Amino acid sequence: MSETGMIFDIKKYAINDGPGIRTTVFFQGCPLACQWCHNPESQANKPVLMYRANRCVLCGACVEVCPQHAITLDGFSSTDRSLCNTCGVCAETCYNGARELSGYQVSVDEVMSEVLRDTPFYEGSGGGVTFSGGEPLLQHRFLLELLRACREHELPTVVDTSGFAAWEVLNSLREYIELFLFDLKIMDDERHIQYTGVSNRLILSNLRQLAEAGSAITVRIPLIPGINDDEENLRASGEFIRSLPNICGVELMGYHDLAAAKYEALGLEYQLKQVSAHGKDQLLRSVKIFEHLCLQVKIS
Ligand code: SF4
Ligand code: SF4
Repeated sequence: MSETGMIFDIKKYAINDGPGIRTTVFFQGCPLACQWCHNPESQANKPVLMYRANRCVLCGACVEVCPQHAITLDGFSSTDRSLCNTCGVCAETCYNGARELSGYQVSVDEVMSEVLRDTPFYEGSGGGVTFSGGEPLLQHRFLLELLRACREHELPTVVDTSGFAAWEVLNSLREYIELFLFDLKIMDDERHIQYTGVSNRLILSNLRQLAEAGSAITVRIPLIPGINDDEENLRASGEFIRSLPNICGVELMGYHDLAAAKYEALGLEYQLKQVSAHGKDQLLRSVKIFEHLCLQVKIS
């Protein structure tokens, strides 16, 4: 039996997760809790239950089957999450897809059989496989086995990471990774802790060590209005990036609030409700800051 790990999705024909056409494998679990996270279902290191009220027809089937008696029906189906043990029975029962369990255990062989189906697309487009999340480095043994399997099949690999892991972990995986998509969020440490839940010291140190060790890196910056889009932060980010070798470019990722419904489905509060996406002019102003520092930059 090959190594197993927990993922929450495998996305086919991805075109924004590295070069060419790719299959992206999303790992469950993340040590950060960014307020703008667009995959909040991936943050817990275990499966999580999602309930989408707009798909619920109040049939009551879930109430009947829940072994924990965690569900009540009163105008809508609600779940006492302190009783729920995420057994998934309600999700299997709900024929409307209103209930869904995110996060499931898979083996390396199972992931690879999915990934290998699209080999002709990778070959034709210069694509390959991307490991994202969540934070893939959190399950580094599983990731290592997947990377080795990809190497055996000559599939190019990308890892999309927050960079929050022991350097020894990153260093042990480096040789199997063609490109890192490395997130850089906020340069000021106090603000980084405030908005992501962790310090940026390890992240910045890993980014420098990775670059100096010769890994190819695209730095990704999520542009969050009112949080990290100020000139001071973007200039400081650009100057830090410019001081590093082996940076292939900078990708600014525009903010959107499409994840708000996921927070609701998880019974979590979306803290950026009042935040609106940038206009084109604001995005271009951000781009110029990086161009002035002679960095290759694009918006995604
Ligand atoms: S089984 Fe699905 S559709 Fe029926 S009440 Fe439960 S959540 Fe709603
Ligand atoms: S996942 Fe299991 S315990 Fe949780 S609400 Fe559904 S049936 Fe009940």
